[in-house]
Amino acid sequence: MDSGMIGKIEKAKRYAEERDRINFESFKATFEGENNPHTVTFENDNWNCDCDYFMTRGVCSHTMALERILEGTIPLSTALA
Ligand SMILES: [Zn+2]
Repeated sequence: MDSGMIGKIEKAKRYAEERDRINFESFKATFEGENNPHTVTFENDNWNCDCDYFMTRGVCSHTMALERILEGTIPLSTALA
């Protein structure tokens, strides 16, 4: 491996520890729930999930789990703040 690549890998390891450098603007994920898979999206700081609970409450276990996984890279919702 060339020294340029070694340097990039070292930098990537450091960046991976510095989550506040990263801000997700949008993404879409499939979430394997206990009963069915759900589609979760994040766009313009807004979460959406196709589960019934999210439809009535605007937040659900799927969005909250993803918020925990992505902590530091997205704004915290009022549910977790
Ligand atoms: Zn959900």
